[in-house]
Amino acid sequence: MYDLGQFRKDLQQFDIQLTQQQENQFIRYFELLTEWNEVMNLTAITDFDDVLKKHFVDSLSLVRAWPQIRERSAAVIDIGTGAGFPGVPLKIAFPQIRLTLLDSLQKRIRFLNELSTELGLQDVELIHGRAEDYAAPSKKREQYDLCVSRAVANLSTLSELCLPYVKEGGYFISYKSEKIAEEAKAAEHAIFLLGGKIEGQKEFILPDSDIYRNLFMIQKVRSTPKRFPRKAGAPAKDPLK
Ligand code: SAM
Repeated sequence: MYDLGQFRKDLQQFDIQLTQQQENQFIRYFELLTEWNEVMNLTAITDFDDVLKKHFVDSLSLVRAWPQIRERSAAVIDIGTGAGFPGVPLKIAFPQIRLTLLDSLQKRIRFLNELSTELGLQDVELIHGRAEDYAAPSKKREQYDLCVSRAVANLSTLSELCLPYVKEGGYFISYKSEKIAEEAKAAEHAIFLLGGKIEGQKEFILPDSDIYRNLFMIQKVRSTPKRFPRKAGAPAKDPLK
């Protein structure tokens, strides 16, 4: 049997109380993640308590920066979602959101497809492709209230990949695991060019741990100029300055 005591305690600190069904979904997520991880590279973290803390609690820490997710049926996109972080834990805890998960690796999308079916998740769209290629006006440009991304790229690159997806007035929130004063400074002009405005950052330690977390918040204040994002590969190879 799985012991969810610490998980429940951690989530209390975020004012999140899960139903039995949601707890079962998280357990099943853990099982599928570790099963599929035997045959494809999804995560280096496989211990039950570690997955709960470093993947699930960490993903849900978003409520510290964007509490609106509790009430709104917001349109949310997770860029470079990998095995579903942070998007899938957010969808389990806040089932009313409309979620898009995007990743350039086909095998990860296959896993997410199976996961969504097994967990019975509704209103989840999976996109296999590069972030640079789906931000066209005929695709997903400026359609989201919130774009999230964890462990994908530096802030300048990430802003070019993510801000085009966000509606004016919406937010891009980047999960960072260290202090990013220099990285933020280097990305300032890029964020401006892309129509964003740095709103601030929420820094904290994950509950009952020594894991530092920084949620860096950018508001979209103007439409992103058509020339962004540049062609696939350019944002990472030659970050905007
Ligand atoms: N967000 C997940 C997490 O925190 O566990 C996965 C992080 S993993 C280190 C980075 C992911 O970003 C990979 O799955 C990779 O395929 C994806 N990725 C990197 N660049 C991308 C791009 N330009 N467009 C779409 N996905 C991208």
